[in-house]
Amino acid sequence: MPDKFAVGIDFGGTKILAGVVELNSGRLIATSKKKTRQPNDVGDVFKRLTSTIDDALQDANLDIKRISGIGIGAAGMVNRDKGILLNAVNMGLNEIPLTAPLEDYYGLPARLGNDVEVATLGEMKFGAGRGSANFVCIFIGTGIGSGVVVDGKILRGASGTAGEVGHTVIYPYGRPCGCGASGCLEAYASRTAIAKVVASEVARGHECLVADKIDPSKGILRSKSISQALEAGDPLVTRAVLEGARFMGLGLATVINFLNPERIILGGGLIEASDMYFQVAKDEAMMRGLKIATRKLEIVKAGLGDYAGIVGAAQLVAK
Ligand SMILES: [Zn+2]
Repeated sequence: MPDKFAVGIDFGGTKILAGVVELNSGRLIATSKKKTRQPNDVGDVFKRLTSTIDDALQDANLDIKRISGIGIGAAGMVNRDKGILLNAVNMGLNEIPLTAPLEDYYGLPARLGNDVEVATLGEMKFGAGRGSANFVCIFIGTGIGSGVVVDGKILRGASGTAGEVGHTVIYPYGRPCGCGASGCLEAYASRTAIAKVVASEVARGHECLVADKIDPSKGILRSKSISQALEAGDPLVTRAVLEGARFMGLGLATVINFLNPERIILGGGLIEASDMYFQVAKDEAMMRGLKIATRKLEIVKAGLGDYAGIVGAAQLVAK
């Protein structure tokens, strides 16, 4: 039997990644990438999406008949049945229909999932989740999202929001969070949180090797700059990353005590940028988690890196 392929799309607030994936092995045949940019309307989004897909298809050089379908993992809340992206992160658009127009355009079935959910699916089938039926994937970058796998299935919750570990409160009356609440884990342990600490210290006159990389309007420092500063031994960035990692350890201890998973998989930009963050968060979690709950636990790094979303999204259309 010939190998089957599908298109997987990671549709984020800053970039669109598309890839042609061999479904049985998770192997990537071709990939393409475009900036999401601020779209004017829904038509703009669709054009950007199809041009990214077209590039990947052209690069893969496969007969379209060998493509089983198109799977999309989108950042934001999604209506899986209707294939609509309900609120697009950073795009200022709501209710974007994705699967129906793609099905019409390519004549292929299309399915939609949330970005964290599909990345978890990718790790489950081909990454660090292989061989485990009870694990949690936590992705740490701009925010903190997680996918929870129980008995081999992704847990969705009553209204589809299960796994929002980034919004567990670790400090009453603490720092404001993007969700509107105060003291959420995300406001202490995400890359954005670490960047804000660095930016505010720089604004107070502290020296920092990557001070010129900070966008003062948003307090943003990219993962690459964080990693450069750590390698050069910058004291301010090192302290901010250490603090963020310890807070992450607190969040992980909550996950461990509540769910008793056999594996916790940590991924995302910050984990790739800093091994220290990973180690410190892991040690803190193991120290704080209940002894019996940590006995069978492994805390490991994600296996698929940037491509977990594409590989997982393609699985949405696997038969
Ligand atoms: Zn929050």
